[in-house]
Amino acid sequence: MADSSRIFLSPPHMSGAEQAYIRKAFDENYITTAGQNIQDFEKELCQKFSANYAVALNSGTAAIHLALRVLGVGTGDEVLCSTFTFVATANPILYQGATPVFIDSEPDTWNMCPEALEKAIQERLQLGKKPKAILLVHLYGMPAKLDEVMNVANRYDIPVIEDAAEGLGSTYQDKALGTFGAIGIYSFNGNKIITTSGGGALVTDNASLAQKALFLGSQAKDPAPHYQHSEVGYNYRMSNISAGIGLGQLGVLEERVQQRRKIHEFYQQALSPITTIHFLPELPGGFSNRWLSCITLDPDQTITSEKLRQALERENIEARPLWKPLHQQPLFAGNPFYGGSVAENLFNLGLCLPSGSALSPEQLEKITAVILKQFRSA
Ligand SMILES: *Cc1c(COP(=O)(O)O)cnc(C)c1O
Repeated sequence: MADSSRIFLSPPHMSGAEQAYIRKAFDENYITTAGQNIQDFEKELCQKFSANYAVALNSGTAAIHLALRVLGVGTGDEVLCSTFTFVATANPILYQGATPVFIDSEPDTWNMCPEALEKAIQERLQLGKKPKAILLVHLYGMPAKLDEVMNVANRYDIPVIEDAAEGLGSTYQDKALGTFGAIGIYSFNGNKIITTSGGGALVTDNASLAQKALFLGSQAKDPAPHYQHSEVGYNYRMSNISAGIGLGQLGVLEERVQQRRKIHEFYQQALSPITTIHFLPELPGGFSNRWLSCITLDPDQTITSEKLRQALERENIEARPLWKPLHQQPLFAGNPFYGGSVAENLFNLGLCLPSGSALSPEQLEKITAVILKQFRSA
């Protein structure tokens, strides 16, 4: 049973335009992984984000997996990867039999630290192993330090995959996240800023990478009248139904970004009396979609982020800790890690507040009232 009184962290928010595209797919009987919606969705992704090629897929995880495949990441290779992220960023590295080498965050954007990245590259090179790729995450929609990271990547000639799953609609110097590296990936999972019910996409300016991703993601069928295969492929294509939902959602992406940014501003205003609560400001040139509004608390306070989370939960409000760094996950025990305790501290001190673009002013008031009350009664 759906619980209509619960305030969720980041639920889907339909525009109303989706069903016409779904109906069209039904009318034309293009229900599976071919059809006009897919073509139009890819075209619109390219136009909106100024990418040459887009491949619509059935998840962001699939997009990351294909990105690694087309860049030639295989068994025994190393991939430099942001530690402060959702596990879906790094799982595809394991699918390929490769090893994630985790890089800490810097405190200004919470994303990959360029200095730790360079140190990792130098040390891996000294060990005789050139990393195959850099998997750079733009967490919670906040652009990473792109100039610095791209600079390091270019200096050592290592391709960058941008995990912009949470960064759809964010820009750095007016350029869409996902279009700085060799390949960018997006997610349209139900909790992201827009959704296709479940889906993802890979974008690139490189024709052969795009072609190869499409080939591998559609079961790697060699050109022949019968089914002929010489490489392992995947069933990763987006369905024409999902693409229809995506078309209805892409039309309101800018609106969704503005709504989420407004929510972030509201929290900042409403919680400003509590001087131990902090928000992450944008750096010059950085424009965040504010996918999730996150706070961090000062250390050693009576009111911890977990106390706040529990207080909100008692009122049927969903809040969530920041991502637990991957280098601290049992799954990645023993993997190399470069950096200090930036990501670890964020995990210990942070909390994601409800950020859905359909949140009403009353719901926002309720959420902040619960938080303020914790501090007043402390
Ligand atoms: C959601 C997410 C993914 C995975 O996308 P799916 O579409 O759920 O497979 C990857 N990376 C990050 C940072 C995400 O938040």
